[in-house]
Amino acid sequence: LPEQEAFDIEYWLLEEAKLQRMPKPKSLAGRIAVITGGAGGIGKASAVRLLSEGACVLLTDIDQASLEATVAELSDVYGADQVDGFAMNVTDEDDVIGAFGYCAQRFGGVDVVVSNAGIASSAPLEETTLESWEFNQSILSTGYFLVAREGFRSMTSQGIGGEFVFVASKNGLVASANASAYCVAKAAEIQLSRCVALEGAVHGIRSNVVNPDAVLRGSKIWSGKWKEERASAYNLDADSLEEHYRARSMLKRNVFPEDIANGVYFFVSDQSAKSTGNILNVDAGHAPSFTR
Ligand code: NAD
Repeated sequence: LPEQEAFDIEYWLLEEAKLQRMPKPKSLAGRIAVITGGAGGIGKASAVRLLSEGACVLLTDIDQASLEATVAELSDVYGADQVDGFAMNVTDEDDVIGAFGYCAQRFGGVDVVVSNAGIASSAPLEETTLESWEFNQSILSTGYFLVAREGFRSMTSQGIGGEFVFVASKNGLVASANASAYCVAKAAEIQLSRCVALEGAVHGIRSNVVNPDAVLRGSKIWSGKWKEERASAYNLDADSLEEHYRARSMLKRNVFPEDIANGVYFFVSDQSAKSTGNILNVDAGHAPSFTR
């Protein structure tokens, strides 16, 4: 290279290096997110991830006491102007409308919806009651519809697009023993995400799914009857379930709430700007193997 050109390249490299060292703006600064089921588990981990990237977050949950405790904990870390809570039941239309109205008033709009609130119940098909079937559908299908509709209305009225992330389950893609009500409801959730993606594209709205494999730690679902029921479906002792899930995964690793939160962040952020109607399995490589 001629001397001058070589100098210019060195100069440019130096400027680049300086730029790399400059503090970068947070990737979600100015974004406003509603997270359902945010009092604990995957919802809380997702809140931490979005808050740490600068988003304002409205946590919602049916469990008011846990919600208040989590909002207080996160406010201490991120500041009360970045995080708030709203107690609501996703199956109650007025509650859901109220939550989105509150978010608009408190933070000025809604750019991101993480639809995550959930329950789980397990029984062999011939022992599944109508009540249990309807309970699963009411939360994981009807509740998700109400949240999607209100989120969609908020985003289209603002006219600046937005992101939906549905925390579903690999059980919405593959059948799992003794969990027909849950599997069918989770399949509905995945299909709802695709419908939101299709209708939202023209408005700049993206919608994607994160499917966790079993996340035992930090999950309220796994502290209840579900754990015994899953262990019994696999003829295992409840204490050996975590090891069972680790052993059956290709990577031989368990999945934690933070792993799911990373997937949620990916679909919220510009890193996934060209992805919609997609599914990310965060399962240490279990879903494609189709083993139990
Ligand atoms: P979690 O029980 O810790 O969190 C779920 C939250 O949803 C709870 O805080 C609960 O109070 C809230 N909730 C329940 N019913 C509600 C309602 N009607 N209205 C509003 N809030 C309600 O469980 P988690 O493990 O964090 O699960 C989060 C999501 O991930 C769920 O949708 C679940 O189906 C899905 N998922 C979890 C696992 C897992 O192994 N943990 C695996 C696959 C999918």
